[in-house]
Amino acid sequence: MTSLPISIDRIRKVYGNFVALDNVSLEIRSGEFLTLLGPSGSGKTTLLMALAGFARPDAGHLRIAGRDITRLAPNRRDIGIVFQNYALFPHMSVLANVEYPLRLRKIAKAEARDRAMAALERVKLGGFGDRDIAALSGGQRQRVALARAIVFEPRIMLMDEPLSALDKNLREHMQFEIRKLHDDLGITTIYVTHDQREALTMSDRIAVMNAGRIQQIDTPDEIYHRPRTRFVAEFMGEANILPGTALQPQGVATDDSLMIRAESFHLQPLEGPQVWISGCLTAKAFRGENWLLQILVGDREVLLSIPATRAQGCEALTPGTQITAWAARDRLHVFAPETDTLPE
Ligand code: ATP
Repeated sequence: MTSLPISIDRIRKVYGNFVALDNVSLEIRSGEFLTLLGPSGSGKTTLLMALAGFARPDAGHLRIAGRDITRLAPNRRDIGIVFQNYALFPHMSVLANVEYPLRLRKIAKAEARDRAMAALERVKLGGFGDRDIAALSGGQRQRVALARAIVFEPRIMLMDEPLSALDKNLREHMQFEIRKLHDDLGITTIYVTHDQREALTMSDRIAVMNAGRIQQIDTPDEIYHRPRTRFVAEFMGEANILPGTALQPQGVATDDSLMIRAESFHLQPLEGPQVWISGCLTAKAFRGENWLLQILVGDREVLLSIPATRAQGCEALTPGTQITAWAARDRLHVFAPETDTLPE
């Protein structure tokens, strides 16, 4: 199956006087798995709907492999779509649901059947063709929706929170399944979620959105460890943002904003270049895989997340105890205050 690159060029979408998409530009590579990640209302679905052809942009252009599709009808865009609520036909069998896009495209009955069966095999529902949709679990329905989206061999796939109705374990399992399916088929995929971990797990690159704008487009590792804005830093995980002074190895002080993730800290000194912080314990909590400690440093609360495997003694700590924590120097991320917003 071939895949195609997508170009999103200064897309603007306004509802009344509310700007849902504010000059959004994004290049998605052929075969890439790109996730739109952002809080509720940040414009993710609006951007996906513009790509699918269900929302008309007020300005800007959408291109697939260089071809302008901004005004093309949805059914002529060759895009497979998987929605959050599956949008399956409850009165039809599993097989009939998966055949449906082929019927729409006037594919002959026998061929439609063969291709639908093959798509069901791909999502590991080979024996389920005759079942009613009502007789399936949530995860199985999600697989049917996937089979229906890939059956006509689209060269682009859009997914809008496809796993949000599933419980945690099944969701995590399906994250791997969808990623594997993507790797097998190589379809350029744009995936929408507000779940940071899901985005980190699945994506080649993540575009973090806030208030109708893209804040950063980068690999999961860059987004997590080297956020460009304070918004990205805080949205992606437990970030301590500290004003003030970074003591460089050479003893040089800088006044930039500092970011250090809670899980970067250790309760013992480390080998190599490192930073340390010291404060008074104000709260602690056991979270299974780690202990969360809150210490007061000056007038700032700082969060330390210590893996349970090296958290000996945390259980006995009492509020008021003086705690010193160390982190490798390269875990300290320095970002200039003026990068609070992405430069134009
Ligand atoms: P969620 O994660 O909650 O789905 P989202 O990031 O996908 O959020 P959108 O659904 O794209 O956000 O919505 C972006 C903003 O545009 C929201 O404030 C929403 O209320 C608004 N909006 C979306 N569709 C319409 C519409 N048809 N009319 C008016 N406002 C709309």
